[in-house]
Amino acid sequence: MRYDLLIRDGEVVDPDGELRGQHDVAVAGGTIAAVAPSLPADEAACIVDARGQYVTPGLIDLHTHCYWGATYWGIEADPVAARSGVTTWLDAGSAGAYSFAGFRRYAVDASRARLFAFLNIATIGLIARTYELSNLDYCDVGLGAAIVEANRDVILGIKARIDRDTTRGTGLEALRRARELADRVKLPLMVHISTAPPRIADIARLLRPGDILTHCCTGHENRLVDGQSRVHPFIRELGQQGLILDLGHGTGSFSYASAEAMLAEGMPPDVISSDIHQLSVLGPMYDLPTTLSKFLNLGLSLPDVIARATARPAAAMGRPDLGTLRVGAPADIALFRLEEGSYTFHDVFMQPRRGRVHLVNTATYVGGTLLPHAPERPPAPWVAADLPAVQRLHGRR
Ligand SMILES: [Zn+2]
Repeated sequence: MRYDLLIRDGEVVDPDGELRGQHDVAVAGGTIAAVAPSLPADEAACIVDARGQYVTPGLIDLHTHCYWGATYWGIEADPVAARSGVTTWLDAGSAGAYSFAGFRRYAVDASRARLFAFLNIATIGLIARTYELSNLDYCDVGLGAAIVEANRDVILGIKARIDRDTTRGTGLEALRRARELADRVKLPLMVHISTAPPRIADIARLLRPGDILTHCCTGHENRLVDGQSRVHPFIRELGQQGLILDLGHGTGSFSYASAEAMLAEGMPPDVISSDIHQLSVLGPMYDLPTTLSKFLNLGLSLPDVIARATARPAAAMGRPDLGTLRVGAPADIALFRLEEGSYTFHDVFMQPRRGRVHLVNTATYVGGTLLPHAPERPPAPWVAADLPAVQRLHGRR
């Protein structure tokens, strides 16, 4: 048999290869072997009928938390990967220098989905809910650089959460050290924004082309649009220079008002990511396909949202070999149905919007192997206590 797997008659959407329309996708030896309008079924060991479904590269989620069991936020990636089409997970700062070896052994090595990381500038990572930058003794540039050098196959950038609580009086110093670390190891810096201080204008001065500003549709003080719903000029300028705006929906960071203002200004998020974690997985974020559906219903096309969850995050993390159905690429593939009906979606302030379509994952392949559905871990013991407080903080009723 020439092919291990043949996915037949699906509607292929591959933004990287600019491929559209009904195609067969063949897999051999864990890589994409061929994509063509018709491939010989008698040369495939396994045939999947994808008629009426969309076939896309496996999704890449640029902002996740998947260090389960060792951090406040972490979930286990594989059970969610199997039901959402996300084959590559970028963990955004769950691990710092002190906890990276554990992340590598217990998350990366234990997962069938592909896991990469942005190393937290805080050596303690995200073991607790917040305050990780409030003690600058935990922002050790030299130690961070040593961990990066020993783990360049997994660590693709540096992460810093810069808001009122995480910094708690230390101002911009943690961000300056994150900048220094990122420059020293020549990797991008991902910065989270939310509440102030520090103020967005001061944070932005430390960002460079190729860096990632996550929570770009936040509704908090550091939102990227002003009182007249216009994008701050300094953000527009940074975007033109190559700063990547990443959604990072999460429990606190997706405001329909901000998103609609940015779309009206012609600046949708460059990357649509979930910020999936112990709380956001319970809603109203839920998962990446639901987050993509929100943008479909805001008027983005299907190829456009798929690009923002495949080829674009692949480029942002310096892994253009992923997020594509090019021949020779790893056979990470997702199948979706685009269901039509009457749906209500919510932002983190529980503001509703009606929608007509919902993207639903039906199968997820990593390296040509189907990820089996598996039960997800129950919420951590602190979630029941903390979720109502988080929801109150973000103005839900
Ligand atoms: Zn996050």
